[in-house]
Amino acid sequence: MPRRSYNDESVVATFTEENNSKKKYMSPRSVRLASHDKTRVAYFHDEGVGNYHYGERHPMKPHRLTLTNHLVLNYGLHDKMEIFQPRRATDSEILEFHADDYVDFLKRVTPDNAEQFEQVFSKFNVGDDCPIFPGIYEFCQRYAGATIEAARKLIANGADICINWSGGLHHAKKCEASGFCYVNDIVLGVLELLRYFPRVLYVDIDIHHGDGVQEAFYSTDRVMTVSFHKYNGDFFPGTGHIDEIGSSLGKYYSVNVPLRDGIDDVSYVWLFKEVIDAVIGTFQPSAIVLQCGADSLGCDRLGCFNLSIGAHGKCVQIIKEFKIPLLVVGGGGYTVRNVARCWTYETSILVDTELSNDLPPNEYIDFFRPDYQLHPHLSGRLNNMNDRQYLLKVRERVMEQLRYLDGAPSIQMQEIPPDIQGFLDGDAELRDAEDDSEIGKEHRRRREVMAEAEWYEGDDDNDGEAVDSVWAEDS
Ligand SMILES: [Zn+2]
Repeated sequence: MPRRSYNDESVVATFTEENNSKKKYMSPRSVRLASHDKTRVAYFHDEGVGNYHYGERHPMKPHRLTLTNHLVLNYGLHDKMEIFQPRRATDSEILEFHADDYVDFLKRVTPDNAEQFEQVFSKFNVGDDCPIFPGIYEFCQRYAGATIEAARKLIANGADICINWSGGLHHAKKCEASGFCYVNDIVLGVLELLRYFPRVLYVDIDIHHGDGVQEAFYSTDRVMTVSFHKYNGDFFPGTGHIDEIGSSLGKYYSVNVPLRDGIDDVSYVWLFKEVIDAVIGTFQPSAIVLQCGADSLGCDRLGCFNLSIGAHGKCVQIIKEFKIPLLVVGGGGYTVRNVARCWTYETSILVDTELSNDLPPNEYIDFFRPDYQLHPHLSGRLNNMNDRQYLLKVRERVMEQLRYLDGAPSIQMQEIPPDIQGFLDGDAELRDAEDDSEIGKEHRRRREVMAEAEWYEGDDDNDGEAVDSVWAEDS
């Protein structure tokens, strides 16, 4: 089966012919990376992070990280980048975002003493999805530590791109676990980046909405969050409607791209490029965090899209080509062999190296039966429910939202520490000031118009989820 080319001009033209007037958004700018001949990539891998177990039947398998690392090493990609064994995040680093009592709970609870904590399980949303397993807090410290160190590496200008496949746990909230995520390493990494970079763009291609990150930065204009995900109101986590656009200072700085089942390579990559070109041209980020959840691949155990590894990787390449300091993290991904393939391929894109489609011999080669290839055929399991009209409409709505921003915001650098929570909650005085101004009134009026506009042709979007297990609706 021949693989399609995503650079096929005829395909792009089909979707863009009506929209040539939007060129003003398409002004990619190069920042610091332009001064380097070669992109410097730093890879953060904790040898122990793949040894934790959520439970026998739980779909989240940290072992996928070990598998990914083996492929990366056996393809020789470690020669193309600097490798770091990250240190664990400290309590105080995790407390930069998370609440005291929640962190204290994570530190103390174990499967053996879980009984004495049962009264707070529902408060912290611990249970089936987010079980208590041995070493739970250490696991969080490892993946979060790697993201924080990666962010610091970018700040120090020690690398142009940093990779942490163990990170990307985008559902975790300040005071609770959610969707297999306990500590939100992305929020911690972005907070770190904000100490130095004026504007941070967060892009999420996991099949699930990046709700934890969106919520944390919902009221600031220093972080723009852009999430591409399946949305029908029921699919986990239930948020990510196109009308969720941010609030207060952050109004219009949350972008949601809701998709239906079965989206294919050409549609996804086209829409991704359209949205990202416009977002970057408008917001002009000084750093980007890219969450590469691999549950958006076809044949994922919990997913319902049709993406190939090539298309998923094409999104990574599109982001990379902007040459803006980039932190790449993992995320979801529940068909373990394909997660490892995908993140290995994406590592190769980030270090500009072509890989043979034949996987190199390695001790886990049996996982990749029967084809032993990097790019297995993953599409076609589901019909594509995203027709051209729907995609154009989503695109138009996003462009409309971005038009309100009218160029990069002027940054009054809000100091990040010591009052991170104040920063995250937004400034009430500024919020009031905006709401009383003419712009605030106009924003409100337009938002009302947007809310009233007929959007979904039918809200009874029963797409026939692949309900193959108790986990089917979770992260
Ligand atoms: Zn996911």
